[in-house]
Amino acid sequence: MTGTAASQADIAADRLPGGAPAPDVALAARLFDELRLRTGGGRPERGITRTSYGLGEQIAHEIVQREARRMGMRCEIDAACNLFMTMKGREPGPAVMIGSHLDSVPAGGNFDGAAGVLAGIAVASGFHRAGLRPARDLTVAAIRAEESTWFGASYIGSRAAFGQLAGRELDTVLRSGDRIPLGAAIASAGGDTARIRDGVPQLDPAAIAAFIEPHIEQGPVLAGAGRAIGLVTGIRGSFRHREARCEGAYAHSGATPRDHRQDAALAVARLIVAMDEAWQKLAGEGHDMAVTFGQVTTDRDHAAFSKVAGRVDFSLDVRSEDTATLDVARAELAAAVARIEAACNVRFRLGPETGSRPARMDPALLDQLARIAADAGGDARPMPCGAGHDAAVFAQNGIPTAMIFIRNENGSHNPFEAMEMEDFAEAAKLLSAFCDEGPGATGPA
Ligand SMILES: [Zn+2]
Repeated sequence: MTGTAASQADIAADRLPGGAPAPDVALAARLFDELRLRTGGGRPERGITRTSYGLGEQIAHEIVQREARRMGMRCEIDAACNLFMTMKGREPGPAVMIGSHLDSVPAGGNFDGAAGVLAGIAVASGFHRAGLRPARDLTVAAIRAEESTWFGASYIGSRAAFGQLAGRELDTVLRSGDRIPLGAAIASAGGDTARIRDGVPQLDPAAIAAFIEPHIEQGPVLAGAGRAIGLVTGIRGSFRHREARCEGAYAHSGATPRDHRQDAALAVARLIVAMDEAWQKLAGEGHDMAVTFGQVTTDRDHAAFSKVAGRVDFSLDVRSEDTATLDVARAELAAAVARIEAACNVRFRLGPETGSRPARMDPALLDQLARIAADAGGDARPMPCGAGHDAAVFAQNGIPTAMIFIRNENGSHNPFEAMEMEDFAEAAKLLSAFCDEGPGATGPA
């Protein structure tokens, strides 16, 4: 009898207050350590590097697939090498998908992306070790090539999963550093570029009841508010000019009169101020927006202290939660360019525009997650999201989508990301309770 009581106590200890299995946070901690060991350079200040369709990302995919197979999950790899690991649910119906990406920026942090996949693995392992099943099929997704730093394109893996990666991107988009075309990189990782080129969707939106992407917060909001987790309300879209330039004319700085100058540095400075004023005006009217000229350089070979700048290269990144605001900003940019070209006698060449559409998270799904968090005595702070994530692609394909942010000191895309496992556990518990009651449930009976 005592043995039975002891084992019952053990089981109880593995349950959350509402009855859902406790997530296997210890497993996630071991996997974070393994990822750091196997995809880092051994020097903490160098961080980790998991190149999109490169060695580090491949290792990360092998690690999570190994754990999924150990739990008897069905593992499927699509044409773009995205990995979907499914645990059978108690009920029929569309699945719950939890996941994120496993690539990183060069010399990045161990948690950006990986936290979302390992949260799914921790939840699945919690069900597995408790001998329980989630309400619906639970698919843990490990998405490829989310970080645009490698190929200069956003959401490669998730767009390919929905048949929305343009075939020309496979040939024309090159990986930074080794200059390998995207298609060749996908093929070398074992993918099927012919299928991607045909635009064959690998995922059926109707088969996914909810997509939830847990992710470390990349700003200071949760740390400042003293909260462990937050619920994202929307993901900003953007338009970008990564390779813009202004062409004027090099001239002697002392001998060239003002009205003869074609000063590219002055013109770009005016453009920066004009776009900042547009931002202030739109923000004052209540629009969400952010404008950044992240790179502004004169030509190293031709510019000099005593020369009027004949050429300035720059980049521009404009973001908003709202497509209409991006359209207004784009019109402001065009007007400012025309005005400044005339005033400064220069020529702007903005180059190709890239970007992404804004995505709204699903209100009903957010309500359910907020209610579960409140029932557990916590609260998940609603917040916007300034950076792009795969969740945006899922939302744009009509799938009810949510993101759970996890408190993180020091921002992301650097080796000093600092997520506490206690905060990670809060997100995993919320997900476990959600998977136990199932999407659309209105609360404990
Ligand atoms: Zn990320």
